[in-house]
Amino acid sequence: MAAFDVIVIGLGAMGAAAADHLARRGARVLGIERFGIAHGHGSSHGRSRAIRLAYFEDPAYVPLLRRAYENWRDLERRSGESLLSVTGTLEIGRPDGAVVAGSLASCRSYDLMHELLDRAAIRRRYLVFELPEDYVALWQPDGGYLRPEAAVAASIGLAAEAGARLHFGERVLAIAPGPGAVTVVTDTGRHEAGQVIVAAGPWLADLVPEIAPHLRPTRQVLGWFWPRDMAAFGPGRFPVFIVDDGAEGAHYGFPAFENSAVKVARHGHLDEPVGPDNARRPAGPEDVAVLRRFLTARLPLLDGEPVQTATCTYSRLPEDFFLIDRAPSDRRILVASPCSGHGFKFASVIGEILADLTLTGATPLPIAPFSWAALEARSSRGAS
Ligand SMILES: Cc1cc2nc3c(=O)[nH]c(=O)nc-3n(C[C@H](O)[C@H](O)[C@H](O)COP(=O)(O)OP(=O)(O)OC[C@H]3O[C@@H](n4cnc5c(N)ncnc54)[C@H](O)[C@@H]3O)c2cc1C
Repeated sequence: MAAFDVIVIGLGAMGAAAADHLARRGARVLGIERFGIAHGHGSSHGRSRAIRLAYFEDPAYVPLLRRAYENWRDLERRSGESLLSVTGTLEIGRPDGAVVAGSLASCRSYDLMHELLDRAAIRRRYLVFELPEDYVALWQPDGGYLRPEAAVAASIGLAAEAGARLHFGERVLAIAPGPGAVTVVTDTGRHEAGQVIVAAGPWLADLVPEIAPHLRPTRQVLGWFWPRDMAAFGPGRFPVFIVDDGAEGAHYGFPAFENSAVKVARHGHLDEPVGPDNARRPAGPEDVAVLRRFLTARLPLLDGEPVQTATCTYSRLPEDFFLIDRAPSDRRILVASPCSGHGFKFASVIGEILADLTLTGATPLPIAPFSWAALEARSSRGAS
């Protein structure tokens, strides 16, 4: 018998959550991570990640989000860490734009609490936004932010406490399925398990080559800006926001919390495809110019040089959907990672799904849109 029931490769947001859920359900788990705990080389760093219930991307995500909220609160209880802050989310744009119209469709499909604000009402509540006449906002009270580094560290700590073996600073070189077990070959040794979860984020194609034609890692830039009026940007006053300027792109940001400045980014940034190992080129003037162009137009009180910048990687799949399924080449290999730039909020439920799939062979949670077949259908739609 193999030494482990499941080996989890990659302990970013998804792998850490999977290791936690597996270990607490009594599985013999080995987690392997090439860097350290909650490091800054992948996709799960940057102090804040937005979470919201009404989902403009597709209402199909809403049932998973409900479960994700429950699981984040459960992780907080079990770890004693504060991970999720609810501030409300303000989604701003034209009424027929992808963000406002999409979120409204989600609210109507699932009867979610929301409020539609016209431009005058937005200005009454939040004096800081400069908006065109025809912009509106959808306010959702459940929205807020997660603390990504603390969340990853909390899952890892609980997994270890529940008996998971966790190896940091060990790089997986290959996955070799054999007749009796799957062997994971690393730079320091070999490990065997009944099943393997690959949660390698932007590096996924190194280990699961079948994903290479679909996966597009892109370089992202975050900027922190010090407001001219700090009181207007604190958590009690300022929500997590998205401004959808149509062809100009969508920008998002967070309140200033825990003495930090206000974090702002452009969703997709310059959509620059990168190999995951050069995604960390530090932000340059061209990157800062993207963010400042937005701030000058929409949030002038934040316009200035950033006090800090960071880079990160989106692992994009066609139509920015997820993939959570077994690899076509071997059913014992589960792939769960490229969360297309919006996956963090789901990590708490994706961990549960991965534990369901490996330990019971099925999950009651609705993941049909994230199958390999659905991914291939989206890829061929994009190519035609
Ligand atoms: C700038 C930015 C902003 C975002 N904003 C949001 C947001 O507001 N809300 C939201 O919900 N989502 C957001 N996302 C998306 C979200 O952060 C990601 O979907 C999520 O963090 C992906 O987690 P992951 O575990 O799949 O990948 P990662 O965190 O990259 O983890 C993969 C892990 O695998 C390890 N690994 C890779 N290869 C190997 C190997 N060969 N051997 C061993 N270990 C290996 C890596 O070191 C890494 O730790 C954002 C992403 C970025 C980049």
